[in-house]
Amino acid sequence: GTCLHSDARQKGSFVDKNVYDWSSEDEEPDGRARPVQVLVVKDDHTFELDEGALSRILLAEELRDREVVAISVAGAFRKGKSFLMDFMLRFMYNQACEDWVGDPDEPLTGFSWRGGSERETTGIQIWSEVFLVDKPDESKVAVLLMDTQGTFDSQSTLRDSATVFALSTMISSMQVYNISQNVQEDDLQHLQLFTEYGRLAMEETFLKPFQSMIFLVRDWSFPYEFPYGQEGGMKFLEKRLKISENQHEELQNVRKHIHSCFTNISCFLMPHPGLKVATNPHFDGRLKEIDPEFISNLQVLVPWLLSPRNLDVKEINGSKITCRGLLEYFKATAEANNLAAVAAAKDLYNRKMEEVRELNQSDSTEAALPEALSGASDIVLHVPPHRECLTTVCFYCILSPTHSHTCTFLLPHTLYQVSGGDRPFLAPSELQARHVAIREEALAVFRSVKKMGGEEFSRRYLQQLEAEVDELFVQYIKHNDSKNIFHAARTPATLFVVIFV
Ligand code: GDP
Ligand code: MG
Repeated sequence: GTCLHSDARQKGSFVDKNVYDWSSEDEEPDGRARPVQVLVVKDDHTFELDEGALSRILLAEELRDREVVAISVAGAFRKGKSFLMDFMLRFMYNQACEDWVGDPDEPLTGFSWRGGSERETTGIQIWSEVFLVDKPDESKVAVLLMDTQGTFDSQSTLRDSATVFALSTMISSMQVYNISQNVQEDDLQHLQLFTEYGRLAMEETFLKPFQSMIFLVRDWSFPYEFPYGQEGGMKFLEKRLKISENQHEELQNVRKHIHSCFTNISCFLMPHPGLKVATNPHFDGRLKEIDPEFISNLQVLVPWLLSPRNLDVKEINGSKITCRGLLEYFKATAEANNLAAVAAAKDLYNRKMEEVRELNQSDSTEAALPEALSGASDIVLHVPPHRECLTTVCFYCILSPTHSHTCTFLLPHTLYQVSGGDRPFLAPSELQARHVAIREEALAVFRSVKKMGGEEFSRRYLQQLEAEVDELFVQYIKHNDSKNIFHAARTPATLFVVIFV
């Protein structure tokens, strides 16, 4: 084959540009291939799928009936995804070439060619050009490259990102999870969050819902412990995913869960690309400024991901699908906002239950504490409204040394606890009552969202939501009990008797 470089590579391609119908305003005047934003998460947490753009790409005549390989690189912003994807593009454009990695002086182009103007949008971009590749078994497959990104810095962005990642995991045959420096518990938890959506969506299949997951660790700095590359990566990952008895139950579940979702799980450890790449704002991607160790690992990684024999066609419930099928699946999955509705309803439940645990100040009357409890001047006593008249009741105040910021008041029948920061203990009957009300509210949120697939289809998700909310409630009860210092064995408490008259 021939090697296409630089401009020739951008214009010439495996698929004739004429088959695209670039009729919308996002048409590129020079017809160059480029990243196209096909899914955006908007400020109100709804998705917007650019069906037109997606159809223009996937329904091109040469592609629509080809089996499709969908490769997604997912992860947080500013972690070198575009940089890597640009090399993946080089490989795709120069398949036949030994020196696909390029000329030492050639700037890097592709996903990052719009440079600084790129907004940090949670969503999915795909490369407008889909590559046709001959597999060793003579079949020709279409290869689609996707860039999935999000932020993980707050509760709401975390949910949006998880939903987008779930979506890209569902529509891809290979998910490359790009993470920085190590595989942290956080990374695993994010992964669990987004695979959870996937499992929910694929409850009915006995097959593992997803195909390949590759943990790509960037800036790996312990090569003496686990060497760069895939073998070191596998050993490292084995250790990170190992379930041990003394792990926290939650972390054990993350690990079990990951194994049950993917047919193949692997890991690749990449070295740091050098300071020019990481810090120089004028760096344009030329090879001579990249650490040679990074390049040599890139020359292993990229063919490992993309060489024809390693390309796996996307399967849904065990059947291979075409570009046209993928388009339909993409649309259905994105619109199946049942998942998003479950997440939103669960969110509401959690938020409101947290509020309950913080004992709403407006529900109570404040009374100053006697000076005897000195040093606790920021502590106020919350008396539920219906107790207001009981001014002559005795309050027994227990100050435990382990509760430096909290104290507990015993009313004749109920225990109330107040605090300056820590979460208070709540009477179980009160917690139960709040749960019932908030659960109803959460279910109403779910019902109010317009959903695809009709009533019958939604019922599954509703049941799932009910089960999950009830499970959460069990956690809240446990947590609340742990706040009851009469149940917990603690260091001996000092007892004060305070009488209000
Ligand atoms: P993206 O937001 O994940 O697509 O990240 P970019 O590919 O745009 O890269 C963000 C910044 O990190 C750029 O300044 C890159 O030059 C730099 N970068 C790319 N790859 C790496 C890497 O492996 N390690 C480090 N430390 N920086 C990288
Ligand atoms: Mg990027």
